[in-house]
Amino acid sequence: MTQMIDGKAISAKIKEELKAEVGQKKEEGKEICLAVVQVGNDAASCVYVNNKKKACAFVGIKSLAYELEETVSEEELLLLIEKLNQDEKVNGILVQLPLPEHISEERVINAISPSKDVDGFHPVNVGNLCIGRKGFLPCTPAGIIQLLKRSGVEIEGKECVVIGRSNIVGKPMQMLLLRENGTVTIAHSRTKNLKEVAKRADILVVAVGKPKFITADFVKEGAVVIDVGIHRNNENKLCGDVDFDSVKEKASAITPVPGGVGPMTIAMLMNNCVETIRN
Ligand code: NAD
Repeated sequence: MTQMIDGKAISAKIKEELKAEVGQKKEEGKEICLAVVQVGNDAASCVYVNNKKKACAFVGIKSLAYELEETVSEEELLLLIEKLNQDEKVNGILVQLPLPEHISEERVINAISPSKDVDGFHPVNVGNLCIGRKGFLPCTPAGIIQLLKRSGVEIEGKECVVIGRSNIVGKPMQMLLLRENGTVTIAHSRTKNLKEVAKRADILVVAVGKPKFITADFVKEGAVVIDVGIHRNNENKLCGDVDFDSVKEKASAITPVPGGVGPMTIAMLMNNCVETIRN
């Protein structure tokens, strides 16, 4: 029987644990405050931001919402970030991406203080991850490590193949699997013989951004398959980068879409917020 890796249940459990921890910290007089900055009102961004605010309320984290006009200048946004960097009451700063074209995401990410960068995108945190130092971990790949561990999947010594090399998923995923002592290969759009490479995987993480791209012929019998993709099909139903119906017949464990990786991203964001007051 193929194991369904239940991201909804695992993320709910993590949020319960964080809620208890935050409750205890409150008794010690410690509070957490996350500043959530949104530019414009892109529909998908509104959904993500709302879910983040709801998760904060559940865990006991105060969230401050900064809703800026689509036309706000980069300079004004950078000034706001600087103000939040200086504000001792603000523990974490999150700027919802994507930003409008006239604003440089790179400059905005670089402006956030690394000690408040709860998304884990600042080059200092990326560097810390690479050299094995403490720092904020990017939420989606950190959530995948939790999914594997909490589902009883051992990573040490396993052949891990990550498909996709983006800065927010593929590359940090590679580093985190390596940190867990996996033997890691990263594949991408220029990889030759992708099928053969993917078939080496005991643990296959797919983040290509193409609906149902990975079919059963990319998967070794008994592999664990993690699907990062999120797409809406013509019937408005969600699907992933993996052709779930065919791949589930071959995999020993698999994440569904929805209800797999998605809910973990927010749970790990909450964990990063709590991390700001640990120790
Ligand atoms: P991206 O578009 O930045 O990167 C896609 C990667 O896939 C690239 O590195 C590219 O080299 C690789 N790729 C493209 N075509 C390929 C091919 N034919 N063969 C092999 N590799 C190929 O995407 P991303 O930001 O990493 O996101 C990937 C998917 O994950 C998207 O569907 C996105 O919506 C989803 N996502 C989900 C969450 C979540 O919380 N669940 C978070 C981030 C992204």
